[in-house]
Amino acid sequence: MKGKEDLEVLLNDAGLDAQLRSIAEKVYAGTRIQDEECLYLYEKAPLAYTGVLANYIREKRHGDNTYFNRNFHVEPTNVCLYTCTFCSYSRLIKKREEGWEYTLDEIMDIVRTYDDKPVTEVHIVGGVLPQYDVKFYTELFRQIHAHRPSLHVKALTPVEYHYMFKKEKIDYATGMRLMKEAGLDSMPGGGAEIFAPEIRDQIAGGKCSGDQWLQIHEEWHKLGMRSNATILYGHIEKFEHRVDHMRQLRELQDKTGGFQTFIPLKFRNKDNQMSHLPEVTVIEDLRNYAISRIYLDNFEHIKAYWPMISRQVAQLSLSFGVDDIDGTIDDTTKIYSMAGSEEQNPAMNTQELVDLIKKVGRRPIERDTLYGIIEDYTDHVFEEAETFKGYISLPVVEQEKK
Ligand code: SF4
Repeated sequence: MKGKEDLEVLLNDAGLDAQLRSIAEKVYAGTRIQDEECLYLYEKAPLAYTGVLANYIREKRHGDNTYFNRNFHVEPTNVCLYTCTFCSYSRLIKKREEGWEYTLDEIMDIVRTYDDKPVTEVHIVGGVLPQYDVKFYTELFRQIHAHRPSLHVKALTPVEYHYMFKKEKIDYATGMRLMKEAGLDSMPGGGAEIFAPEIRDQIAGGKCSGDQWLQIHEEWHKLGMRSNATILYGHIEKFEHRVDHMRQLRELQDKTGGFQTFIPLKFRNKDNQMSHLPEVTVIEDLRNYAISRIYLDNFEHIKAYWPMISRQVAQLSLSFGVDDIDGTIDDTTKIYSMAGSEEQNPAMNTQELVDLIKKVGRRPIERDTLYGIIEDYTDHVFEEAETFKGYISLPVVEQEKK
């Protein structure tokens, strides 16, 4: 395994910093690193060093396997009660005419658009509004399942759940049980941002706290269900906050084992209240993937959202701990393009995604949401270029001028 050889070469480097050597030895031995060591990595570790360690772990767990799934996104609304300072996506209630608010029937029309497409998952997430309550979403999940029973419903984050359960006056355990009974299959990882209150209050004031985010995932895991986790990095947080965030995730994972995948999300600075902040470099993106792979020893997967970081950086990330690239995704999500990502029309068909993975020497594996293997595309011969991009029209939203 190349990753193992690279790590052995690194350990034979007599000039290696003592602390970095100690961390590398731990990784080689499969021993967990501590919080202060994680902080040291953020502060001192060169990019190449972090890549060697993370790639060793990645190849030990997954070899060259690189997972993707075929999904589509539904965003019921982009109008939101909250005003997160990093959000380029939502429209305030007072400007709600600039946004969209789909009814249940309109959402089902979108779902039906995919009836003849080989998708396995619908990913539902959007803004927070009173009409999108427990009744609305339980009915939506039921209707999706009745219409297409095989479609995995991955939907909503603790931000929406906390709001709607509070409005309904039910506790998290009751609320998550109702969602499960209605057909929710798994939870995406969004809304985590940064848990530390001194940062969270500044960037995401008013929505669920870090503790509440973790409690809702814990209740969901107690039902035997799976979810993902994210971090929003590269804005006003310090390295200490990233470590603290991952420590809380690692602790909950030790307790429940319910997380599948960690997804680092890069702060983008277009058209939001933090546009004055510079974005972090690609080097920092790759270091961040790698360090999360090294620290989160109890997470099976690290995922890169290629629509957010570009196809090229996604390819690079596969050597920095990432083993999953978000699916053959289409233009039904506006979250990243509206935040200024390189991918303004994020659409890749299966053949394009497979090629992207193969070009950097990895094995493209189509998975379902719970990482069941659907097909290994390594030797797959595409009969003809696939043309499906899954594009459907969405309301055009005028970008606010700075
Ligand atoms: S990040 Fe989510 S909760 Fe915050 S304003 Fe945007 S849509 Fe609303």
